Amino acid sequence: MNEPALCAKLQLILDRELARGNRVMAQETGWSKVKLAVRLADPLDADSLKRAAAADPDLELWQSRDVKNPREAGILCKSCRQTLAGPLNSTRS
Ligand SMILES: [Zn+2]
Repeated sequence: MNEPALCAKLQLILDRELARGNRVMAQETGWSKVKLAVRLADPLDADSLKRAAAADPDLELWQSRDVKNPREAGILCKSCRQTLAGPLNSTRS
């Protein structure tokens, strides 16, 4: 496999997600504004993402509520244009 390397900042967050039992579903490169997206099976831990984004101005939280696309939330590294994505936590639908 010759996959693009994941940004070190996002790798730290991904490692925490995998430690919580989350799983990588896919690595995608076809997104319009993003070079690499790692799609996870379960919602990302919101507190972990908020702490990471607060500590680093390159990291930005995002949410997609587009009705035509899956409802997702994640974190983007603006300098690498890579992102981690997971389903939007639907407990508050
Ligand atoms: Zn980065």
